[in-house]
Amino acid sequence: MIRFYERDPYAPIQYSYEVENILYKGKSKFQEIIVVQNPHFGRMLILDGVVQITERDEFFYHEMLTHVVLHAHPAPKNVIIIGGGDGGAVREVLKHKTVEKVYFVEIDEEVINVSRKFFPKVACDVDDPRVEIKCMDGAEFLKGRDADIDVVIVDSTDIVGFATSLFTEEFFTSVKNCLSRDGFYVTLSESLHFHKEIVIEVQETMKKIFPLVDIYTAPIATYAGNWWTFSVASKGALPREMRQKFSINTKYYSDEIHQHAFLPNKMYEKLMKRKLEW
Ligand code: SAM
Repeated sequence: MIRFYERDPYAPIQYSYEVENILYKGKSKFQEIIVVQNPHFGRMLILDGVVQITERDEFFYHEMLTHVVLHAHPAPKNVIIIGGGDGGAVREVLKHKTVEKVYFVEIDEEVINVSRKFFPKVACDVDDPRVEIKCMDGAEFLKGRDADIDVVIVDSTDIVGFATSLFTEEFFTSVKNCLSRDGFYVTLSESLHFHKEIVIEVQETMKKIFPLVDIYTAPIATYAGNWWTFSVASKGALPREMRQKFSINTKYYSDEIHQHAFLPNKMYEKLMKRKLEW
């Protein structure tokens, strides 16, 4: 059996996966796209040598990326998803009946096409009439927008290459400017095991722009470091507080998970003072 060895840009270890079948291999204008079949995880989407989603566990990441902020907002209507070409975040966002419009801003159209074909249960809602697909850089899309967006979700590749435009002070300023009063911004921010300094840097940059910044985590088996962080920001609204009743269908996220996912206050303070010793 052949094996796939992951080339994660910041991981101090290498993950190795059995490959039963290579279902797709191509190169877009932006990146190499591969879909393989693994005996445990099912189909896996790999971009530039890094695992993005697997059929078996994608819901952990997509539910936690989207539902925490969508439940902290009283009635989200307008949502922007940046990246997320596999469609998993779109599927979860559309579970919220209040949502009227989703701008789905993915730089690489090929990722959406490959996902429509090989991950139909993940990309199932990308062609929903509430979704407007924009194939462009998310940072460009946000420039000069009105403040009418309730939730901005960044579901990008790791913080290298063209994804770095989504982690600058300039980008965070554009996000803040387009958010409504109760709005929330959430982004992946790597692992607390392997990338503590990156997590702190993302948080520090967000704190320069947003009045309120917080952090929560989720266990993701296939992302390097596994103990994955999500950085969340707002103009003052509290992400730890649920302003909506939990009533959607999920496999992992729940009202209990919402309360437990946030980093305990003392630990968060220690993290930001660079006093977490591991
Ligand atoms: N959940 C995955 C993870 O964390 O590994 C991310 C999945 S999703 C496929 C990542 C997508 O972000 C890719 O398809 C990539 O093309 C897109 N992306 C990266 N940088 C971007 C940018 N600046 N603007 C829009 N999309 C971007």
